[in-house]
Amino acid sequence: MFSKILIANRGEIALRILRACKELGIATVAVHSTADADAMHVKLADESVCIGPPPAKDSYLNVPSLLAACEITGAEAVHPGYGFLSENARFAEILADHHIGFIGPKPEHIRLMGDKIEAKRTAKRLGIPCVPGSEGGITDDEEAKRVAADIGYPVLVKAAAGGGGRGMKVARTAADIEVALATARSEAKAAFGDATVYLEKYLEKPRHIEVQVLGDGRGNAIHIGERDCSLQRRHQKVWEESPSPALNADSRHKIGTVVANAMRELKYLSAGTVEFLYENGEFYFIEMNTRIQVEHPVTEMVTGIDLLNEQIRLAAGLPLSFVQDDITLNGHSIECRINAENPTTFRPSPGRITYFHPPGGLGVRVDSAVYQGYVIPPYYDSLVGKLIVHGKTRNECLMRLRRALDEIVVDGIETTVPLFRTLVRHPDIANGLYDIHWLEHFLAGSP
Ligand code: ADP
Repeated sequence: MFSKILIANRGEIALRILRACKELGIATVAVHSTADADAMHVKLADESVCIGPPPAKDSYLNVPSLLAACEITGAEAVHPGYGFLSENARFAEILADHHIGFIGPKPEHIRLMGDKIEAKRTAKRLGIPCVPGSEGGITDDEEAKRVAADIGYPVLVKAAAGGGGRGMKVARTAADIEVALATARSEAKAAFGDATVYLEKYLEKPRHIEVQVLGDGRGNAIHIGERDCSLQRRHQKVWEESPSPALNADSRHKIGTVVANAMRELKYLSAGTVEFLYENGEFYFIEMNTRIQVEHPVTEMVTGIDLLNEQIRLAAGLPLSFVQDDITLNGHSIECRINAENPTTFRPSPGRITYFHPPGGLGVRVDSAVYQGYVIPPYYDSLVGKLIVHGKTRNECLMRLRRALDEIVVDGIETTVPLFRTLVRHPDIANGLYDIHWLEHFLAGSP
């Protein structure tokens, strides 16, 4: 096992990693930009190193600084969290060249899944059902028209290097396709430096259902249930739950088995998530994320598995702590992503938290790095914390979430808590009747 780990991230996930390390008896190194000197995980870490000025490209994405921090502190491995360098295969390789462990998948799998066209090809080869679409990248507009006519409108133009919901454009009819291609290409070029796009059938009313996996890199892999992340705004998840209200034991078992078999064949290492759209009882692969995800706690709550602990153990070469038959789903869990944003306009609201009271009690978990007096810097994403609740049934979980949302107080900044107070009381949510467009329609005033 490692004796010292460097946490190459910030915010709530840095604290989450730190907690896992402490519980394993591993010493921790926090790295931070000058804007994050007062961060909670910096205060709690055994050592901390300032790695640069506020812009992420000069600090959290600054590989030479991170290597120097490893060298100075003698850290044996790096946990990248999510975002930043977590899905950067080159970073994993550079660490390996310096004999430093990367707590994540093998570089070749990060690279493979980072290219969505290659990822889809691989998924198909491994027997995972995919969204109908173009065979590969589309460069020619005439070819795009032929493919779109073939799969049938509406179609979605997607960036091969896409992420965070960017570089995606819908074409409802043949008249829209040229504009959709041009906008998606330029958005992809600007955001990812790669203008490659591909086409997919645009599904009208799917749910977003993803399967959590763990692999030991030697051909053992298990699936540990699904998360339903259909409540989204601008293709970004807002509310996640496990299990999905839309699946029964049979469909869960079926898709989980397909995914676990594929991961075994791939010899996948570490935690990963295989994402699907689910419509009319069918699953369609969209992408795989080769990292720990924001919404991992709902899986932890219903399975009792500490995913960060597993990631660290697997990176150290230890075997999986479980076999498939050990995994059982217990009750229901929901997570709300609380952002420092106006709950109606979603305008970011950085600044000082003048009063903070987190909710508590049975089945309530708050994963947040904020504290009273903390100043949310304006340079990074607006996630201030996650409220995760667990109940024996979905209904108990909803009632618990309702009362936890009534307890939480965050003063000094605006947050999206009021939105969640409304959502948790909505009949469609209570009945689990929502697809990936529900929240956008609701916010536009037409649920
Ligand atoms: P990103 O990597 O940018 O998050 P994804 O491929 O994971 O992109 O898609 C993000 C979201 O976009 C999905 O959860 C879904 O809401 C929507 N989406 C993606 N592909 C399709 C599709 N073929 N049809 C309808 N919606 C889609």
